[in-house]
Amino acid sequence: MQCSIDTYDFAGKKAIVRVDFNVPLNEKFEITDDTRIRAAIPTLKKVLEKGGALIIMSHLGRPKGVTEKFSLKHIIGRVSELLGVEVKFAADCQKAQAEVAELKPGEALLLENLRFYAEEEGKPRGLAEDATDQEKKDAKAAVKESQKEFVKTLASYADCYINDAFGTAHRAHASTALIAKYFPNDKMFGYLMEGEIKAIDNVLKNAQHPFTAVIGGSKVSSKLAVLENMLERVDNLIIGGGMGYTFIKAQGGQIGNSLHEDDLMPNALEILKKAKEKGVKIYISSDTLVCDKFAADANTMVVPSNAIPEEWEGVDAGPESLATWKEVLLNSKTILWNGPVGVFEIPTFAKGTLQIAQNLADATEKGAYTLVGGGDSVAAVTQMGYAKKVSYVSTGGGAMLEALEGKTLPGIAAVME
Ligand code: AMP
Repeated sequence: MQCSIDTYDFAGKKAIVRVDFNVPLNEKFEITDDTRIRAAIPTLKKVLEKGGALIIMSHLGRPKGVTEKFSLKHIIGRVSELLGVEVKFAADCQKAQAEVAELKPGEALLLENLRFYAEEEGKPRGLAEDATDQEKKDAKAAVKESQKEFVKTLASYADCYINDAFGTAHRAHASTALIAKYFPNDKMFGYLMEGEIKAIDNVLKNAQHPFTAVIGGSKVSSKLAVLENMLERVDNLIIGGGMGYTFIKAQGGQIGNSLHEDDLMPNALEILKKAKEKGVKIYISSDTLVCDKFAADANTMVVPSNAIPEEWEGVDAGPESLATWKEVLLNSKTILWNGPVGVFEIPTFAKGTLQIAQNLADATEKGAYTLVGGGDSVAAVTQMGYAKKVSYVSTGGGAMLEALEGKTLPGIAAVME
């Protein structure tokens, strides 16, 4: 049974909270972006305010064992500052019994990086390169077995479990999913998770129509499942960025040097066919900004997207496409945006992506629900200063992508079950 952080009685209880404190550090181990820590603070504060004690757990980076560089001790100062209490530290997440026993209401303890143990992910480490299939199988079985104890130890620290780590919700790891079964009546989502789940539901379950999805980015292959899931739900599908050229080439267009995937052309044609059957309108750029080299000082021109000269490469949507897309977006009641529609990292090629951000901001002002979900579009909207002008900006790249593919995320299912 799933509980709610707002109604749960934390007084005198210890809450073990999975957060995503996987923040970037520089070579001096200083945090260069604390967004992920800030995102979990409302949940952590709530537990303390209600008289609970916090056992905070997270991973940092991809260590293959105990590694100084990936120690969470580097972030204690910042977490303490943002939380407003002196956070204690347990230098081994599996040997924190003494620190946990001393923890009093209103206090917080941060456990060392969960991924210092292979059991967190449940994947074997240190296998010889020439390991046989049987050795690999045995190693996997061994880590799955020792994972049970690992989970049990973490669970033994607390009276209740909160998952507020959306960034790892698509992983069935010890701390993100397996631990939940130890708290059948005392498990819940934190505010960040609740916000993300609501945002996903707003587009996948409760969308107001017209519903438009803008799917961009580099490759069709990485977004195929999202495109297919969207076909079942949207009225309009705008396909932008590098992936658009696979669709254009598949229909016989000349795309010059533009990014494309020949092996995905049959899938592209299938999507176009399905869209027609379902009455979903597909918008692929009719004109394209092309360049003669992949750099800010390149020569550029606008050409029809299906007549790109040889040696030229499509890097952004052209003005005609952007005008069409603008009209579609401003007439939409729900918009999902995943993936930039051009090489936005280079300012000369960022106009299209900037305009999509502007269109989403304008549509939001007109009352539409707008969700920006997934890696680079989130970076674009934040970098361009539009994050506060849309309804929701997701914090989880891979997790959001899998949710948009229609998959059930293990971290969400474990708490809801
Ligand atoms: P993804 O990770 O699949 O969402 O793709 C994001 C990347 O796609 C960004 O780094 C963009 O620069 C890149 N991208 C967008 N449009 C194009 C394009 N026309 N050609 C090459 N790369 C592109």
